[in-house]
Amino acid sequence: MPPPDFDDYPLDKYYGREKKLTLLGSWGCYWGECSFCNVRRLEGVRYKPRKPEQIVHDMTVIKEKYKPDIVRLADNAISFSTMVKIASFL
Ligand code: SF4
Repeated sequence: MPPPDFDDYPLDKYYGREKKLTLLGSWGCYWGECSFCNVRRLEGVRYKPRKPEQIVHDMTVIKEKYKPDIVRLADNAISFSTMVKIASFL
């Protein structure tokens, strides 16, 4: 998948003081044990993590193209090891 495309969004109208853009580093949840959670109930949804290198690449593209104050990961769940790898690239 390519990096997210925010070209058609009037980003200056969406945010207050900080421009925050969102990125997904995975789809689904690797844990799937929380009884209250609807993600774990989605049949056929298996955890699909992206490579840390891809996540960092997309963060870099978003940062250079849209110049946000913050790029945040909006994953349902992301593993500690993936976060450590992402941090090692930054
Ligand atoms: S997505 Fe979050 S709340 Fe849902 S099962 Fe996974 S860890 Fe629990």
